[in-house]
Amino acid sequence: MYWKKLSHIEIKEVVFDALNKNANYRNQPILGVPGTFLDSEQFYPDAPFLKDAPFMSIMINNPNHIGCHTLSEESVLDIFSGTQQIEKELIKLCAEQIFKGDANGADGYVAPGGTEANIQAMWVYRNYFMKKFGAKIDEIALVYSQDSHYSMPKGANILGLRSIILDVDDNDRSIVQTDLETKIEQARDCGINYFIVVMNLSTTMFGSVDDIDRVAGYFDSTGVEYKVHVDGAYGGFIYPFTNPDSRYTFQNKYITSFTSDGHKMLQTPYGTGLFLIRKGFMEYVCTDEAQYIPGKDYTICGSRSGANAISIWMILMTHGSAGWQYKMESLCDRTSRICSKLDEMGVKYFRNPHINIITIKSGDVSKQLAEKYHLVADSYEFEAKWWKIVVMPHVKQGYIDSFLMELEAERNALVSETV
Ligand SMILES: *Cc1c(COP(=O)(O)O)cnc(C)c1O
Repeated sequence: MYWKKLSHIEIKEVVFDALNKNANYRNQPILGVPGTFLDSEQFYPDAPFLKDAPFMSIMINNPNHIGCHTLSEESVLDIFSGTQQIEKELIKLCAEQIFKGDANGADGYVAPGGTEANIQAMWVYRNYFMKKFGAKIDEIALVYSQDSHYSMPKGANILGLRSIILDVDDNDRSIVQTDLETKIEQARDCGINYFIVVMNLSTTMFGSVDDIDRVAGYFDSTGVEYKVHVDGAYGGFIYPFTNPDSRYTFQNKYITSFTSDGHKMLQTPYGTGLFLIRKGFMEYVCTDEAQYIPGKDYTICGSRSGANAISIWMILMTHGSAGWQYKMESLCDRTSRICSKLDEMGVKYFRNPHINIITIKSGDVSKQLAEKYHLVADSYEFEAKWWKIVVMPHVKQGYIDSFLMELEAERNALVSETV
């Protein structure tokens, strides 16, 4: 994995150059487009700081990235082809450098978030099974673990798919193999022959990473039609940098698509859920009726701000691959340091060593302490069984130290009570 770090000046040059290649509502005759610049009372274009603020400049020029720009050269017809080109380069960089795909092997776009990117994948595979194999909708199921994000049931509901939810082991959070086999055999007995399988490149609650080779290998051995989507909304911008032996790459033949959110680990603004998929699949969700869009539409959302794609590209360029790796490894180190302290105290928790999440058993930390430090519970409807710490960049060592001291005091008090 390698891409070079660029200086602020270099980044500015690329971004303003792209902006200049876009049409400009302010000085060009653009008579037919149902878009314009942002309201200039509020977003005045002559604010002096703008010339040093490429992201803000893109935002107020308001380019529309609509559809999927990696699919064809047709976006050159688009009046926003300058910034759309940066989005294409971003997709290429993420697919080929971060997820080790072959050259020009992936399509994708910057979706509003991980939720849409996940549902986009389900939509593609549902239509793929229906168009390619003549599958009926009730022969298709969505398979995911009980620790998966709620965008899975949401997507299943929207797309009319039935869900098969796999049990995980209570302690190590891995998918239970016997449960997987029983449920898939039962589904096949009920006439389900097509499976959309979602694998977690880290769950939100535990930071657990599904054993993709074991689970996808099982589907492969049964001879059913299946497609695997990876939900890397949380882990997509950390795990590939902290685990050099990651099985979550396009070199893994089981995987067809990825979600990877900029707005989780990468610290981009909300609105930056990346969707990546092997070439040859986006076509299954082409909306032919989108006649007024050069290149048609292939996405769920339709119009979206070009500034979002630019923000991801800018952050990746600001750090370079080595800088980002250093940053992610540092977060993991800080997480490991907390774990050693918890081990010393005998606190029970779950943690994947390549992810910056620690999930503590609720019996080992009081509700008051968890709430004081804004730990997040696994359930707000039922009594919490787990509390999690996410070691994000704002989680400084000082806060961690005070939390651990209070936890230790609380545990010592408990011990002396029971003596
Ligand atoms: C956050 C998250 C999502 C959903 O992402 P949004 O950007 O909030 O739509 C999906 N899956 C996982 C694992 C997540 O952590």
